[in-house]
Amino acid sequence: MKKKPSDKLAHWKNSTGKTAYARYLNGGRLSRAKALEAKCAECTNGYADGRVDCLLPACPLYPFMPYRAGGPQKSGTRKRSGGAA
Ligand code: SF4
Repeated sequence: MKKKPSDKLAHWKNSTGKTAYARYLNGGRLSRAKALEAKCAECTNGYADGRVDCLLPACPLYPFMPYRAGGPQKSGTRKRSGGAA
């Protein structure tokens, strides 16, 4: 059976962004919102340390981080909560 690029995610826990990242790796298209979720999943290696806040507010994607303290923001305004400045 031919391996798919997303097979490398098999050991990842289920999390927001995993399915979207797998779809992207396999050549699928993502909405902007799903791409943001996929990036955070990729960045944290599938939330290897747990589905928790990355605590990196310097990242431009931090307002949209799925497991951010207080939840992800709906718009791109820069509102910091959790993590160091
Ligand atoms: S918000 Fe956090 S998890 Fe998401 S891409 Fe930025 S540093 Fe990585």
